[in-house]
Amino acid sequence: MLTVQKLGIPGGDAFLLSDNTTAFLLDSGFAFSGGKLAEQIREKLGDRPLDAILLTHSHYDHAGGAMHVKSLYPNAEIIAHEYAEKVFQKDGAKRTMKELDSTEAHIRGVLEYDDLFDILHADRVVLDGDTVQLGAHTFTVLHLPGHTRCSVGYWCEEYRLLLASETLGVPASEDVVSPTYLVGYQMTLDSIDRVAALSPEHIVVPHNGCVIGKDACADFLTKARHWAVEAHDRIHAAHGAGETDAACIEILRRLFYTPKTALVQPVKAFELNASYMVPMLLKEP
Ligand SMILES: [Zn+2]
Ligand SMILES: [Zn+2]
Repeated sequence: MLTVQKLGIPGGDAFLLSDNTTAFLLDSGFAFSGGKLAEQIREKLGDRPLDAILLTHSHYDHAGGAMHVKSLYPNAEIIAHEYAEKVFQKDGAKRTMKELDSTEAHIRGVLEYDDLFDILHADRVVLDGDTVQLGAHTFTVLHLPGHTRCSVGYWCEEYRLLLASETLGVPASEDVVSPTYLVGYQMTLDSIDRVAALSPEHIVVPHNGCVIGKDACADFLTKARHWAVEAHDRIHAAHGAGETDAACIEILRRLFYTPKTALVQPVKAFELNASYMVPMLLKEP
């Protein structure tokens, strides 16, 4: 079985998966922590090569460190959805990633670093159904849009292991999974349903860690769907009762901005995401 190690820094997490046939990274955290991540990988792997950097989506807190890792491991192939690569090549998107990364870096007291967003790219673009061979293991790409259009998961049938995209949601407490839909509500439910139908036995959840066991995975997915629907319904009810967008954002903050969430996301970033979610949810019945 592949060993999974959580690296990076809180909010800019990355997972190193390895066994005696391969070692590869899932996501790469922020750009400002990319150098540190590369060192962490070297510490874990010693002289062994890193085969690939699988990206779940194009956001700066997931793709930001990819080029730093690649600087140390030039043979590691950066793999991302075709649409993520389109995002990486847009000047406006690069600017936004630089700004968000720099804001986060300052909050964490990191002032000197090279963000490398200008050269960020995927070496291989993938689409739904493509396979990625890593050592002895075959992963199938699952397009799981909802958080972004470029969100993907990587499914290993052999272990019934899903390397998930953020679209499924992120646990906010024992009982609550925080929805992360930014681009589509129904799209998100479809992505959750698609994963649930696979009956995964292990899920690596971005910003969280490993969910282990068939029942625990089913429970996570049930909660993810429940809270995705619950938040949608509460926002529609509040809006129907004449509440403002700001009040709707506050509803989401109260539901999902828990101490656990605060560890990985500043409240400003949460509120910014919520400000995209509210109009998106109101557009979908
Ligand atoms: Zn994201
Ligand atoms: Zn994220």
